[in-house]
Amino acid sequence: MAEYVAPIKDMQFVMKRLVGLDQVNTLPGWEEVTEDVVDAVLEEAGKLASEVLSPLNAVGDKTPAKWKDGNVTTPPGFKEAYQQYVGAGWGNILSPTKFGGQGLPHLLATPIEEMWGAANLAFKLCPMLTQGAIEAIEYVGPESLREKFLPNMVSGKWTGTMNLTEPQAGSDLSLVRTKATPQADGSYRLKGQKIFITYGEHDYTENIVHLVLARIDGAPEGVKGISLLAVPKFLVKDDGSLGARNDVRCVSIEHKLGIHASPTAVMAYGEKDGAIGYLVGEAHRGLEYMFIMMNAARLSVGLEGVAIAERAYQRALAWSRERLQGKPIGGGQGAKSSPQQQPAPIVQHPDVKRMLLTMKSTTEATRALAYWTSALLDRAKKHPDDNERKRCQAMVDLLIPVVKGWSTENGIEVASLGVQVHGGMGFIEETGAAQHLRDARITTIYEGTTGIQANDLVGRKVGREQGKTASILIAEMERLAQQMPQGHKNVHLKDIADRFNSSLARFTEATRWIVEVYPSNPAAVAAGSVYYLKLAGITLGGWMMARSALIAAELLEKGEGDAAFLRGKILTARFYADHVLAQSMGLCSATMRGADSVLAVEEALL
Ligand SMILES: Cc1cc2nc3c(=O)[nH]c(=O)nc-3n(C[C@H](O)[C@H](O)[C@H](O)COP(=O)(O)OP(=O)(O)OC[C@H]3O[C@@H](n4cnc5c(N)ncnc54)[C@H](O)[C@@H]3O)c2cc1C
Repeated sequence: MAEYVAPIKDMQFVMKRLVGLDQVNTLPGWEEVTEDVVDAVLEEAGKLASEVLSPLNAVGDKTPAKWKDGNVTTPPGFKEAYQQYVGAGWGNILSPTKFGGQGLPHLLATPIEEMWGAANLAFKLCPMLTQGAIEAIEYVGPESLREKFLPNMVSGKWTGTMNLTEPQAGSDLSLVRTKATPQADGSYRLKGQKIFITYGEHDYTENIVHLVLARIDGAPEGVKGISLLAVPKFLVKDDGSLGARNDVRCVSIEHKLGIHASPTAVMAYGEKDGAIGYLVGEAHRGLEYMFIMMNAARLSVGLEGVAIAERAYQRALAWSRERLQGKPIGGGQGAKSSPQQQPAPIVQHPDVKRMLLTMKSTTEATRALAYWTSALLDRAKKHPDDNERKRCQAMVDLLIPVVKGWSTENGIEVASLGVQVHGGMGFIEETGAAQHLRDARITTIYEGTTGIQANDLVGRKVGREQGKTASILIAEMERLAQQMPQGHKNVHLKDIADRFNSSLARFTEATRWIVEVYPSNPAAVAAGSVYYLKLAGITLGGWMMARSALIAAELLEKGEGDAAFLRGKILTARFYADHVLAQSMGLCSATMRGADSVLAVEEALL
């Protein structure tokens, strides 16, 4: 079965040429992240992804994590892979240097994280959630908690989880019921049940630090009464060694459509005297803290969409070159059209090429958008100019729901096309195409469904700030029209620019409509919000692809770079402009004119 090969050339192009590695590695503390360092790091990560994590992907699918008497055993090879992963230092690249991490920029961590997600999504979730828990404790936890937990979490000796969801509290976390009762020594005792907790129990490490949303006794109802607490599986003594087992237990794990190797746990807190927990940050501000960390977590899940799409594309491409069926209509590229012609590889059929190019072009567009968002996140964190930091942060806030929502929806579509390219064999598990589709299916659900991302985009991000940041973004995209040379000898550039401008005009029109309608009729905006999110994604992705084509054409003219790769970049952008940007018209119309038919239908008629 074909193993994953990291698309390092495209990653390097996006980082170095498109989204501005030079604007990140000139920020204080990141000067050592030179182009050469980036190349070496991507090379090494690519090896672990291909040689260790990718071969375990199908193993984990066929041999799911198992629960027995409160303990969870992960599939064969996963525990050893985790040791190899943390042993080589991959678990701490984003973590603070003060606690033993490498403190590297998001822009470098992003392609690496894409590799883990493509090679083995179920494996990647454990380090991703640990990173989220580290950030929570680092940002708002008291020094005592940081010192108690962070060194071992950063080194990978312990892992972390995020415990938000309860049976009655999913998208709506104001309904959280888990209770936290204050104790005389300043700690809390927790009682309640959490569900769907990724890696809530496992056998990789000796301890797990759960970050739990709970209500302190007497807290107000709703979102304002929720606090964040750290609850270790084993209590930690003052000298740092492990103490007694805490009153938290994994009651069962779920049987799922995909990501079988990732244990999704039901957690019982306080079956006896109450699980001992420690307040992270101030009481009643737990949800606010979760929102601070949400950007990084949602970017990570958006990247999972890119990752699965890349993996599905690689598998489908390999299959299409081997599978022989029929004769391409019109004779195929470079093929003789004699009647005796042998069956051709299916890659030569125009419709199969269309599917593969849809997969390739949208994967590249989602990748570019996610990496650009990462670069902005780095600048929002470290840029010396206060205004620039604020501008980048506002942009990140606007882009995150698009990256999360659009990339993951696209990941599912691409994985589904991957099955289609395989024909009947795509439906048969042995080829591996079906696993990608099953695994991809969760990415539009966890860390906020697409509907929740779209609500966030049209409500908090566009509607409430009257399109301020969206207008800045639109103005930035409009500059491309001036940059695209009209008389360029590369014939594709003009067509790419034309299609992009028309998509941008549709996005601008829909944005203005939302700003106008949202205050008086938010339900009408909500009815078409997912269409708007997709329109935003497709247009922003088109901007990235058009800029890539322009950069590639300039490099070709100068005789620099890998000519075949650069030609491919231009042609892929041209395909995206003709086939994907063409959808903007329909998405704009459905955003602005689709609400009546949604709102007119009474519930009883559904
Ligand atoms: C495999 C897996 C792993 C998970 N890992 C974790 C984890 O580690 N930690 C954790 O805390 N949770 C985790 N979750 C939970 C996950 O985050 C939730 O499932 C998700 O947020 C959706 O909540 P829900 O399942 O209750 O769906 P619901 O909230 O019931 O949503 C059902 C449908 O209604 C829509 N909907 C709901 N509210 C609105 C609204 N206001 N506007 C528009 N549409 C709306 C949704 O978009 C969706 O289509 C995991 C879930 C799974 C399946």
